[in-house]
Amino acid sequence: MPSWPLDLADGFGRVHRDLRISVTDRCNLRCRYCMPEEGMPWVHRDEILTFEEIERVATLFVRRYGFTGIRLTGGEPTVRSHLPLLVGKLARLGVDLALTTNGSTLATTAGDLAAAGLRRVNVSIDSLRRDRFAEITKRDVLPQVLAGIDAARAAGLGPVKVNMVVMRGVNDDEIVDMAGFGRAAGVEVRFIEYMPLDAQHAWTGDAVVSRAEIVARVAAAFPLLDASVAGEEHDAAEPAERFRYADGLGGFGVIASVTEAFCDRCDRVRLTAEGKLRSCLFALEETDLRGPLRSGASDDDLAALIEAAVAAKWAGHAIGQPVFVQPTRGMSQIGG
Ligand code: SAM
Ligand code: SF4
Repeated sequence: MPSWPLDLADGFGRVHRDLRISVTDRCNLRCRYCMPEEGMPWVHRDEILTFEEIERVATLFVRRYGFTGIRLTGGEPTVRSHLPLLVGKLARLGVDLALTTNGSTLATTAGDLAAAGLRRVNVSIDSLRRDRFAEITKRDVLPQVLAGIDAARAAGLGPVKVNMVVMRGVNDDEIVDMAGFGRAAGVEVRFIEYMPLDAQHAWTGDAVVSRAEIVARVAAAFPLLDASVAGEEHDAAEPAERFRYADGLGGFGVIASVTEAFCDRCDRVRLTAEGKLRSCLFALEETDLRGPLRSGASDDDLAALIEAAVAAKWAGHAIGQPVFVQPTRGMSQIGG
């Protein structure tokens, strides 16, 4: 028997250490770049992995393959009942345990999540204008989200990061406002390029605001340290490229999945709410782990499935190239 942990490597030599777990495909918001206003055909509750099943898969990734990071996501992870119970189970694995959330429930859930062992949260906010926030998400909850950020910080779930999906003609006029908010609030804003993962398949390249444009707009308002200095901070496996303000008031990040894809240093795999393993956000194929989990598969059986799925991982997503095919599932069904 080989000694653990083993490197979970793909055919391009990329070693995987980061697991994204979607705990539900359901959500209380309807962000226009993610799901339609009428919602989605939700997965039946019996088909969603139980906390014990999630714990078993996560334990395998951590113990056998040395995974160091787990992020819970969805859908909206905080709408899953008793989420702190799962957090408690995963916290025992001793990894960097984080959560991506729309923040709307954090004012009431942050304390329990932190007490259960959650370490950090990323909160998504696409507009600081209440009416526009409601227009984008179809729910008038910006005040609750801002209160949620305060609650997360008070609970020790920091450093809190704020994710903003930038869309041309929708919210790109708020790039500088959002950067200013981050500076004033002491949170790191991460601007995300709009990706073709909306369930409506309405994405067009014209709606993408590039990393270059985002950085130029922020830098024009708040001078940055030399780009080469910012580059030195770039953690190889971290999708966000980080920049620092020249006046020392923190920094911001850009996730340039479209214009400067980071597939060559990708170290993550994803588990969907119903137990499908995805080796890429844009993968067109998935490996079912729920069936084997429910029919008595051993850890070695599961490991063989995981290793085969990762071995078959492709080089990259090819957005913008003629060969690109948008996955049929949207972001909320995959787990962003
Ligand atoms: N509901 C939680 C939230 O909104 O933070 C977690 C799930 S959400 C699918 C995870 C992240 O994906 C969010 O930051 C969201 O803004 C981002 N996202 C969703 N659809 C996207 C798209 N088409 N392009 C880029 N980012 C997207
Ligand atoms: Fe829900 Fe998050 Fe998708 Fe918005 S981005 S609809 S909050 S899952």
